Amino acid sequence: MTQNEIYQDLKTKLHDVVPDVELRIKSELAFEINKLKVERNAVILGHNYMEPALFHSIPDYSGDSLELSRIASKTDKDIIVFCGVRFMAETAKILSPQKTVLIPAKKAGCSLADGITADDVRRLKAKYPGVPVVTYINTTAEVKAESDICCTSSNAVAVVQSLKSETVIFLPDEYLARNVARATRRHIIFPSLTGGEPETDTLLDKPIIGWKARCEVHEKFTLEDIQNIRKQFSDVVILSHPECSPEVVAASDFSGSTTEMIRHVQRTNAARYLLLTECSMGDNIMAANPEKNMLRLCSIRCPHMNEITLEDTLEALRQTRYVVEVPEEIRVRALRAVERMLEIIPSAAD
Ligand code: SF4
Repeated sequence: MTQNEIYQDLKTKLHDVVPDVELRIKSELAFEINKLKVERNAVILGHNYMEPALFHSIPDYSGDSLELSRIASKTDKDIIVFCGVRFMAETAKILSPQKTVLIPAKKAGCSLADGITADDVRRLKAKYPGVPVVTYINTTAEVKAESDICCTSSNAVAVVQSLKSETVIFLPDEYLARNVARATRRHIIFPSLTGGEPETDTLLDKPIIGWKARCEVHEKFTLEDIQNIRKQFSDVVILSHPECSPEVVAASDFSGSTTEMIRHVQRTNAARYLLLTECSMGDNIMAANPEKNMLRLCSIRCPHMNEITLEDTLEALRQTRYVVEVPEEIRVRALRAVERMLEIIPSAAD
């Protein structure tokens, strides 16, 4: 595409979302990036939470993080540029050790991935010996390496149900653990919060041992938000991510991973939708489904995803920065945990 074609395409999709002057500047950057991408034999991955102008101009593939890493591992490209946060780029490296993986912003953390360390997992394993450890994909490579099996938000329930053990350690998202416990009729224990005392229905005899990390975006949605919207729009269909609190998930019409939410909007025909998720994802779904009526409750942009810009993506390709490395011994163990999940549930969206 020429620069003008990129601009026209962005204008068609994003005229309601991004000011025109910004679209012109961003189309120039996107043109430079796309040129360099070919010269460097690189593939660009764009997570659903990328800002709209980036999301709609430079990624070769866009979607959920694990799905993107799996696609990139099958390409013949030498370089993977991951427009997403660090744990996602690490997952790409775990699946593609022979490729150079770049992340445009050096830190690009995540409140979930940064909410637990490998030492924390080792301590839990010492406290509950022999109990299988299920780890959400939103974790560092070191934490994955300490786990028996990974899961995504779309397959967490199925992964827990597939394990023979009466007790399961589920890390690190408190709310996802609570939602999985509810769906699998287990009671939940948070040794990191309560010292190990059961805090809910102890008549359900299969415990899930959880951790205290939360997604700083999804934890902000409340039951009150849902009640207020329903008062104004009685026909609204509300979709929430399973990283939201159990109260919010229970009061929603649909709960699923980012990819599942996108599919739900595409496959159904409601009068209007409200997505309880990250702002940019809402904008990107709006742009991809202009015929659908999407309400905006957009005050929550992930600050870590927001670190990834077109400017830095251009510099990442120019300077081959920032290279993501995972020590081989950790990579191999982390890969095993990811592969175990894929053996049980071959298609996984986070
Ligand atoms: S949206 Fe939540 S889970 Fe995703 S990167 Fe941001 S803090 Fe982490």
